[in-house]
Amino acid sequence: MAKINRIGVLTSGGDAPGMNAAIRAVVRSCSYYGITCLGIHRGYNGLINGDIVTMDARSVNGVISRGGTMLYTARCPEFMTEEGVKKAIGTCKYLGIDGIIAIGGDGTFRGARDLAAHGVPTIGIPATIDNDIASTQYSIGFDTACNTAQDAIDKLRDTMQSHERCSVVEVMGRNAGHLALHVGIATGATAILVPEKELDMEQDVIEKIRLGRINKRSHFIIIVAEGVGSAMKVAEKIKEETGIDARVTILGHIQRGGSPSAEDRVWATRMGEYAVTGILNGKSNRVVCVVNDKLIDMDINEALEMHKDLPNEMYLTSKMMAV
Ligand code: ADP
Repeated sequence: MAKINRIGVLTSGGDAPGMNAAIRAVVRSCSYYGITCLGIHRGYNGLINGDIVTMDARSVNGVISRGGTMLYTARCPEFMTEEGVKKAIGTCKYLGIDGIIAIGGDGTFRGARDLAAHGVPTIGIPATIDNDIASTQYSIGFDTACNTAQDAIDKLRDTMQSHERCSVVEVMGRNAGHLALHVGIATGATAILVPEKELDMEQDVIEKIRLGRINKRSHFIIIVAEGVGSAMKVAEKIKEETGIDARVTILGHIQRGGSPSAEDRVWATRMGEYAVTGILNGKSNRVVCVVNDKLIDMDINEALEMHKDLPNEMYLTSKMMAV
């Protein structure tokens, strides 16, 4: 097995709270093992441009509690070309990078797979508030995003209650409804619209609001996952059919910010250490996953082929709670 002397770490794709905690864990684990850690700026752009800094154990002081990513993140279309990958490999050779830890989502792992195919060992760490990575039950950032959305909706609830309105809240999640489902359950939503499930607007939303009004319910919260489409249209329909004042709030990027929760900090720390130890043990083209609450690693190609469903029993529970 080739000796590993230098490991590079990057964050790529959409940011997620807890990425800094993962970077810190990678840096500190490298320091523990007595190897050099290099921080690569702006995802795969930094590998192409050589925008790279040396990180020592002290360079990550205090970052565990900070949202965002100290290494910056960016999309890098150039890396999706053969030319781009060659430039990145050239940088790895020039700087003596023996392994790369790539923190991000599925796109980031595709990039890591390309590097591994060209002989640079890589391990991916799942970080996305969407929690849509099929190979892992948990992705860094999801818990914090749920809590952020929950706090915002609790505040909305206060004013909706005073004015006896309906709040239609659009939450993030790209094409997945995990964030919407969790947040909807946590805030006692009347209905949760997710891309994975057909919903009967008349029966599951309008009728529930009508019944709620008869039963003297003062306000309603409807959660719409961004992958479903327009929250505006949902609000207009509610107004039209029930006469209730329905207001739209798009939570947007505040869901990606903020200090990471304990859950995110702990998983990020464990995943960062696991990835460094993995590279040192000769692993490559792997992604770190949480399966049955334990850390394992999986082949990136295998992981990318998997499909993640919305937990049906959770969805049914959410419907039972909405009365
Ligand atoms: P995420 O990692 O959150 O899924 P993206 O899909 O935007 O985010 O991917 C992040 C970056 O990973 C892209 O900008 C690109 O540099 C790299 N990437 C994405 N898809 C591929 C691919 N098929 N091949 C190589 N690199 C890719």
